Amino acid sequence: MPNRNYKAELVGVFGYPVAENPTVVMMEAAFHALGLNWRYLTIEVKPDNLADAIRGLVAFGMRGINLTIPHKIEVMKYLDEIADDARLIGAVNTVVAEHGRLRGENTDGKGFLRSLKEQGGMPISGSKVFLLGAGGAARSIAVELALAGAGHIVVANRTKTRGEDLVKTLNESTQCRADFLLWDRQLSIPEDTDILVNATSIGLFPDTDALPAIEYRTIRPDLVVCDVIPNPPRTAFLKKAEARGARTIDGLGMLVNQGVIGFKLWTGLEAPREVMMEALSKEFAG
Ligand code: NDP
Repeated sequence: MPNRNYKAELVGVFGYPVAENPTVVMMEAAFHALGLNWRYLTIEVKPDNLADAIRGLVAFGMRGINLTIPHKIEVMKYLDEIADDARLIGAVNTVVAEHGRLRGENTDGKGFLRSLKEQGGMPISGSKVFLLGAGGAARSIAVELALAGAGHIVVANRTKTRGEDLVKTLNESTQCRADFLLWDRQLSIPEDTDILVNATSIGLFPDTDALPAIEYRTIRPDLVVCDVIPNPPRTAFLKKAEARGARTIDGLGMLVNQGVIGFKLWTGLEAPREVMMEALSKEFAG
């Protein structure tokens, strides 16, 4: 009998709730496509059990883990090292276990940036960004845009403290200038904007008709308009922007790209992006 290795390498996600997290679909498709004996486990971890779960990860010799709600901030205190951008974002969504050490990364904003570079067709350096939202996704996008050389970011948010906090981080820790705008009315998009991003949860399935409150007639055809919502990929917001002639970038690409970056961090291999995209697209199509 030939030598066989039945030991799988383990990665996965800790969350609560986590049952509807679709990342397993694209990761398992990628492992299968490359013939890797790796498994991606979707693991429910209650907030009080996070410390034990991290100890378990180490005990099992797992190669890493994704974190989703509510663990992205809390996990930081259990790590040996945190990447500079993740520290600025204030959250970790990917842990890499290497040489007995746990390193925290944040791939959300990097996934967004990759989509923007691939499909945006304009330089990020010096660009003017109008960002709707100041939650976790917005923070990761704003920090990565700022570190990539964006010139100015307007953060519009419903809750003042959250928006002001993000603007403070950007102004104090990056070269990018940032301003806060209280989002308490229909907002007009300033004429000099290059990139408009919906980084709120408005429009996420099943609330697919919901629209961010902006003046859609102020969307110009030369704007690049992005949405973080992965499901459905063509949101009501992006449809409105398309109708105005703008170039649009969807949240499905961002989700796949952050997975592609995580895959490389864990395995050291280039991820089969198209396989991952197809697997997730099929999943969301039902
Ligand atoms: P958070 O809860 O951290 O933030 C939500 C943001 O949306 C806040 O700024 C919140 O404003 C705003 N918001 C929600 N409802 C409204 C409303 N009715 N009017 C105005 N503002 C509103 O969530 P996340 O940032 O983690 O996630 C946001 C979205 O991003 C989710 O839909 C998620 O699926 C998506 N996402 C996509 C990723 C991808 O790879 N494509 C990666 C990560 C997230 P306020 O502060 O006032 O509450």
